[in-house]
Amino acid sequence: MYTRKMMAGLFDEPTVSYVQVAVERGVDQFPDGLTYGVPERLEPLQVGQLISVPLGRGNTPTQAWVLSTSAVAPELPKGKETKQVYEKVRDAIVLPPDLVAMAKWMSQYYFSPIGPTLATMLPGPVRHGTGLVTRQLIDLADNPPSCEKTTAKQQGVLDALASLPESERPIEPPKLMKLANVGSKGPIDKLIERGQLICHHVTRVEATWFRQSVDTSIPEQLTDEQTSIIQNISSTLGTYASHLLFGVTGSGKTEVYIRVIEQAIQDGGSALVLVPEISLTPQTAARLMGRFPNKRIAILHSALTKAQRHQQWSLVAEGNADIIIGARSAVFAPIPEGQLRIVIVDEEHDNSYKQDQAPRYNGRDIAIRRAWNANCPVILGSATPSMESWWNATKRNISSLHKLTKRAPGLVAPEIEIVDMKPERHAGEIGNAVISRKLERSIHETIALGGQVLLLLNRRGFAPWITCASRSCKWMMKCEHCDSSMVYHRRKPLEEAGFVRCHHCGLEQRIQKQCPDCSKKIIQLGAGTQRVEAILKETLQIPDAYIARLDSDTMRKSSDLHTVLDAFGKGEIKVLLGTQIIAKGLDFPNVKLVGVIDADTAIDLPDFRAAERTYQLVSQVCGRCGRGEGHSKAIIQTYSPNASAITLASQSAFEQFANEELSFRHASQVPPSNRMARFIIRDKNFEHATGRADSLAERLRSIASDEITVFPAAACVLPRIADRFRFDVTVTSPTSQALQAFLKKARKTVKPGKELAIDIDPISML
Ligand code: ADP
Ligand code: ZN
Ligand code: ZN
Repeated sequence: MYTRKMMAGLFDEPTVSYVQVAVERGVDQFPDGLTYGVPERLEPLQVGQLISVPLGRGNTPTQAWVLSTSAVAPELPKGKETKQVYEKVRDAIVLPPDLVAMAKWMSQYYFSPIGPTLATMLPGPVRHGTGLVTRQLIDLADNPPSCEKTTAKQQGVLDALASLPESERPIEPPKLMKLANVGSKGPIDKLIERGQLICHHVTRVEATWFRQSVDTSIPEQLTDEQTSIIQNISSTLGTYASHLLFGVTGSGKTEVYIRVIEQAIQDGGSALVLVPEISLTPQTAARLMGRFPNKRIAILHSALTKAQRHQQWSLVAEGNADIIIGARSAVFAPIPEGQLRIVIVDEEHDNSYKQDQAPRYNGRDIAIRRAWNANCPVILGSATPSMESWWNATKRNISSLHKLTKRAPGLVAPEIEIVDMKPERHAGEIGNAVISRKLERSIHETIALGGQVLLLLNRRGFAPWITCASRSCKWMMKCEHCDSSMVYHRRKPLEEAGFVRCHHCGLEQRIQKQCPDCSKKIIQLGAGTQRVEAILKETLQIPDAYIARLDSDTMRKSSDLHTVLDAFGKGEIKVLLGTQIIAKGLDFPNVKLVGVIDADTAIDLPDFRAAERTYQLVSQVCGRCGRGEGHSKAIIQTYSPNASAITLASQSAFEQFANEELSFRHASQVPPSNRMARFIIRDKNFEHATGRADSLAERLRSIASDEITVFPAAACVLPRIADRFRFDVTVTSPTSQALQAFLKKARKTVKPGKELAIDIDPISML
């Protein structure tokens, strides 16, 4: 794009001002940015503008964002010259100044370079101009050359254009043809060629608003609880306030959001609504569209086409969106400064709000901060609030707690039953039962009565463990590159021949026939969703057409999901089986039975959030039934029937669970009562990995104040992934301030990168 000559030419222009920029692939050596000169033709550059600058010895064109502007030249070391900005990457790409300020804050808080942080805020399709359309626009020439031979058609075109008011020009060729009543574009082209008409080329995104239709039902009467909560939250409009809306699924939280949004944007301004995974909760978007027929609603999430993402982003950036709905990264919607009136985070506890690559931000926490910056209220809603939010609302009192204690009128809570799986082991068989007798009976009964069934198992594949049949032999098939067991997958649901796959590095192999150690038979232990599917078909004799499985193996595209959910909604599918995908948001009134195949998938993990996750999973999936008329039931299978996360979830006793869990966390000095940072060292060489981990722990300890605890370096729960050994150093602090002060010191000697990941407020402890 930039030839050498062109670059030389550009540098010949005089510099008239300066900008400090953050380059996309930024190293964090210059926290205030790199300085470049601005030639007159690019003046003025705005903060947040995406530009292209020369980088390095080769002056490689590199995308960068303007962080600040200045009129005077910076002081440079002797012999150094400021280079000049090449170009704007398109006029329209400017992040609002509050987002630029947010990026600076994030890069400090999350210990990540500012360039990549800004890059995270801007969707790829916007940066790359995907979906831009170039159109011709025709106008009369200012000084047309005189022409003797004008045909009748050509004259017709000229007359038609001249008769238009100035505000309607320039005009697109098809419209002009219609106006002049000519059948081809020939006369127009001829007139352009002769200089009597001029043709502009305009490149832009052409956006349309989504309007899928939609659920418009309005409850006749709000409950007393809803009324008082809506009043309470609305009274804080116009200032920052944090609200935690705690209510079981179906208690009418979405109705509260809708009423508050109505008030928040009645005199203009925008509402920002975050949902965990929008493709799983199309109902939320559909309901908002149905209830706000006259508002312009932008949707931002990754299941849109690239061009659509660009379009929706532009609608927001131009200040045209009243309501913005999206998943995690929608928290960076480019709402013009001063326009945001309310922020809502639905299912605030959901782990998908945390980005698991740098910058490892939490969308919920950024949403709170956005509301703070915009001086508007934020509502966090959940049936199972995160311990962080519960702590903020009940112990720190920095957030107001609002409770919806009952299901909305007409909705009945399901009967919840815990099934102890220990007695379910079938005599004489190796391995454990997958579906208990009770669940089996209930599935048959539910189908016979015309109801539908949801079955949850948070494990993909057919069997998670492949071992030797001999009890004396300890052989188990592990990944060659990771410290994890290989998972058996069937190619097709009913095909016996399969392969094994590592869920951490993706390695696939054929399964062995015999144990490599003792030559005995190989068996597959445990169950993933594929095996449950096979059992439903083979053992329970449920017709194939009645069953659908949803997990990341069957859902390659978001349309796969829609096809299945459509069929389930129509009642064609009777049993929907899946991983945690099906625990979230689904709202089908005819679901009369929910089965949790194995509630213990999270409980055994060495993670201080294991109980919280288990409670959430059980409670969320049970919330998927009881959404229509009549009786419904949830069956929870477990080997730990007395674990409090499971018993309390089955009694919907969230408050008791949360309060006990918080005391436990407080006593063990882990989040949320303490703050945490995690440094993960990766290295191909085991000695290097341990050596680097120990020396990092040592360095961190040397700069730590008394408040900070630096734990000794330890092997991660998954000590090796894709041939990289993994060690971590965990740091805790009683306050965020102390932790941030510590990280500020650490920044001088510690650099994140491929070999060192830094995770502030970590969610995953693997
Ligand atoms: P949540 O967001 O807490 O899961 P929703 O707002 O989706 O709950 O409410 C569940 C169902 O109850 C929806 O179909 C909703 O229209 C209905 N609903 C909500 N509030 C009321 C009310 N006051 N009266 C009758 N139905 C209501
Ligand atoms: Zn692997
Ligand atoms: Zn063996």
